[in-house]
Amino acid sequence: MMSATRPIPRASVLAIEAYVPGKSAAPGVAKIYKLSSNESPLGASPAAIEAFRALAQKLELYPDGSATRLREAIAARYGLDASRIVCGNGSDDLLHLLTSAYVGPGDEGIFTAHGFLVYRIAILAAGGVPVVADETNLTADVDAILARVTPRTKIVFLANPNNPTGTYIPYEEVKRLHAALPKNVLLVLDAAYAEYVRRNDYSAGIELVSESENVVMTRTFSKIYGLANLRIGWCYAPAHVCDAINRIRGPFNLNGAAIEAGIAAMQDSAHIEKSIAHNEQWLAWLTAEIVGLGLEVTPSVGNFLLVHIPLRNGKNAKDADAFLASRGLILRNVASYGLPDYLRLTVGTEEANRLVVAALRDFVKEWARA
Ligand SMILES: *Cc1c(COP(=O)(O)O)cnc(C)c1O
Repeated sequence: MMSATRPIPRASVLAIEAYVPGKSAAPGVAKIYKLSSNESPLGASPAAIEAFRALAQKLELYPDGSATRLREAIAARYGLDASRIVCGNGSDDLLHLLTSAYVGPGDEGIFTAHGFLVYRIAILAAGGVPVVADETNLTADVDAILARVTPRTKIVFLANPNNPTGTYIPYEEVKRLHAALPKNVLLVLDAAYAEYVRRNDYSAGIELVSESENVVMTRTFSKIYGLANLRIGWCYAPAHVCDAINRIRGPFNLNGAAIEAGIAAMQDSAHIEKSIAHNEQWLAWLTAEIVGLGLEVTPSVGNFLLVHIPLRNGKNAKDADAFLASRGLILRNVASYGLPDYLRLTVGTEEANRLVVAALRDFVKEWARA
């Protein structure tokens, strides 16, 4: 057999389309409002910034490889057992670790039609087979997920609420999904936006993790805590799952600045409450204003919303994206999520929110021309 003239990645690696983050620049525009990555408009807690600065004096030291004090701060806030928490370099790190621990070549991993793109990437990176379950009204559909389960299924990802749709399924539905899954399938509840949700029938899934052997909840400091730049995620999982991912994670997968800032952020309840209140007010305002312009908006429980801009009068979501960008308003094109007729808008500062609505109003004049 002819040997290759250079190293060749595994076929499943070459099947991956690399994740493209939200844009952060608009050429030729001085002032930018980045509303493309679901970042916090209020920034990080001042206490977290202070803790980050203080760490600059200790850059020669390795961080605590188990992030013990951070896990204890998380455990204290949520009433959890710190030994069942594992931290990651962003929750993306944990999604990859969970997948590579449980999915091997030929194994299947399920996620939903407009689910977070990292699931597909993680499954392919592990050599597994991505299996897509249909959604109903841009919302995860438990029966559709269950219909895709086979003897080869090893993992099911559910973003609840989901990004980029902003929709969620009630806890009763999550429990129904879990109850019908085979016991050897790992159910990953990605609750990156849990802090924002204001619904009585929602749960991030802590209780389900506590009482099951095959459920993991992942969380992040990138959204409400405003620490996306530091890359901090965590998961709450059965002890045997923690054991598995602790074997394969990077031994120092969180840096010391992330650990210190994360602890301070977790303890600053006032900042979290402020961020929740800001989101509650402006998510509702943006939704009402944009619907008032005659655009369809998918009801969201997160810190972002999906605006529907189908082709009309020769203009579509791409044109809207370019028009907004020309005013420094950067939204997320979600064509790679199978949603070419939509733009995702992160709830921003009051200034940014008002500018977006004003710009959409101008765009709609052309778009909706009778
Ligand atoms: C933003 C986001 C994450 C978090 O990613 P980090 O790696 O923690 O920054 C995870 N899942 C979903 C669905 C997200 O939108």
